[in-house]
Amino acid sequence: MAEKETKMHELKYLTGYPEQVVGQVKRLIAEQRLGKTPLERYPSVHEIKTDKALYDFTLQLKNKFLRKAPPLSKVAFDKKINLTHQALGLHSFVSRVQGAKLKAKNEIRIGAVFKTAPLALLRMIVVHELAHLKEKEHNKAFYSLCLHMEPDYPQLELDVRLYLIHLDLFGALY
Ligand SMILES: [Zn+2]
Repeated sequence: MAEKETKMHELKYLTGYPEQVVGQVKRLIAEQRLGKTPLERYPSVHEIKTDKALYDFTLQLKNKFLRKAPPLSKVAFDKKINLTHQALGLHSFVSRVQGAKLKAKNEIRIGAVFKTAPLALLRMIVVHELAHLKEKEHNKAFYSLCLHMEPDYPQLELDVRLYLIHLDLFGALY
């Protein structure tokens, strides 16, 4: 069978997904069809190319859905985010001493790989990191927040993972 090329390593992005889904993905890889659905579903990439544009985009979503959550001091694309450790983005809560005050700052970093990606996939990552402003853990409350901001969240999360597997195995899709 044509499954020889599928290294388990590449399916690390699907940890926790049902066997049936993993099986389907392996089949798409073997048949070299992994990029077909994403390209059909998301024909083009977004135009958010700078950290400033990313900050504005994130702030718009925050103002719409999480107005009362703590303010964001920084949002940036980050080349150092290690996708192999399943971190697609990072939310950090940094405490800094400024003069006599202890200032708490919320920062969001998005894997630089999403700089050239479909808008819907970038939005999924941003929604994920925004939800962490209110919920640190990946618990039920966290996922309800994600669904509140993006009703199609589960499908988009799977598509992000397929997109990353495609990047690893076959290179850029766009
Ligand atoms: Zn998370």
